[in-house]
Amino acid sequence: MKFEFLYGFIPVPVFFTNLEFLYNPGTIGRSFGVFIVIKPKYEFDDVILQHELIHCKQFISSFGINGIRYLVNPNYRMLAELEAYQTLYDAPGIKEFKLKLITRLLFNNYNLEMDKTYIFEKVKDYYIMKMVTF
Ligand SMILES: [Zn+2]
Repeated sequence: MKFEFLYGFIPVPVFFTNLEFLYNPGTIGRSFGVFIVIKPKYEFDDVILQHELIHCKQFISSFGINGIRYLVNPNYRMLAELEAYQTLYDAPGIKEFKLKLITRLLFNNYNLEMDKTYIFEKVKDYYIMKMVTF
């Protein structure tokens, strides 16, 4: 376990655990708003840590309202994930590959009930065109 600090002063505990019930199927990290769990294998993976910290910022900056929106609104859930996956998109690597990887992750892991082609268009809009159209 370690602490990260949002905005430099809000402590966020980060637990490294394999307890499967804490995770959504197929995922390696999860934010619970005020704390984070990450699988031990990814303890030193800064991309996943930064991804989950963005979810904590979303939670704290909305006073927890985002948690409800995230659960009930697939469009909001996609937007929250696009914001969090910015860390993956910005990491070194081929951008075209990242666009496809993020599309696949969104399609497989977030119960968006959206067509994969539609998600890919939104991913491109968000990262390339810097457009948010939902
Ligand atoms: Zn996420």
